[in-house]
Amino acid sequence: MFIALLSSLLGHSQSNQPWNGKKCAVVITYDDAIDQHLDNAIPVLDSLGLKATFYLTAFSQSMQARLNDWKKLATKGHELGNHTLYHPCIGGPNRAWLKPEYDMRNYTVQRMIDETRMTNLFLQALDGKTKRTFAFTCGDMKIGDSSFIYAMKNDFIAARAVRAEMHKINEIDLLNVDCYMVNGETGGQMIEWVKKAKETNSLLVILFHGVGGGNALNVSLPAHRDFLHYLKQNEKDIWIAPMLEVAEYIKR
Ligand SMILES: [Zn+2]
Repeated sequence: MFIALLSSLLGHSQSNQPWNGKKCAVVITYDDAIDQHLDNAIPVLDSLGLKATFYLTAFSQSMQARLNDWKKLATKGHELGNHTLYHPCIGGPNRAWLKPEYDMRNYTVQRMIDETRMTNLFLQALDGKTKRTFAFTCGDMKIGDSSFIYAMKNDFIAARAVRAEMHKINEIDLLNVDCYMVNGETGGQMIEWVKKAKETNSLLVILFHGVGGGNALNVSLPAHRDFLHYLKQNEKDIWIAPMLEVAEYIKR
């Protein structure tokens, strides 16, 4: 009886702290490899000792100009994730910026796989690692009717989508991880997401594009800073880690 009571108590306390001993997990991600990540995001992250995931588009302008700066991120413990070679998306009237060469309506599944695997090789050349996570460009998951990620399920530990939801540890599809995309939110609004993750024992994945500029989707420098400081101050309840680390934990 005593043993049963003890084990149920232990089981209960574990289920309250499902994320590596914490109430929730937060993964901070930055997409598209833009200068503002190097210049505005990295200094704040490093000053707080927080590790994030940078989903890099290998052929981005910033990558072409500052390859060595990007290479340094990995030595600081940040994750270099795969956000494709050329950032292809499904074209349409709202995506006039998309070059026809990189319109996924003109891609084959094989081309998508080849370019994505090439990007893994490129990232391996930067950081020496063979385990990788992926982020869907524009959230687009299909070439025609075919999803391409399942053909690459052995190339990636996880893939991040863009649906604004958070889930408990046993409800997560690692090849379709949801995330909250930031576009103009205040620090306070983002902190509310973290509070909800704590209350519901969920994984919260945050997606930043521009940080103090650099992209049409943007977060202001004060909002970005306030959010990261809140995470740091509440680290006893929040497991803050790169996607790869969290995904491997979920898998176990
Ligand atoms: Zn992107």
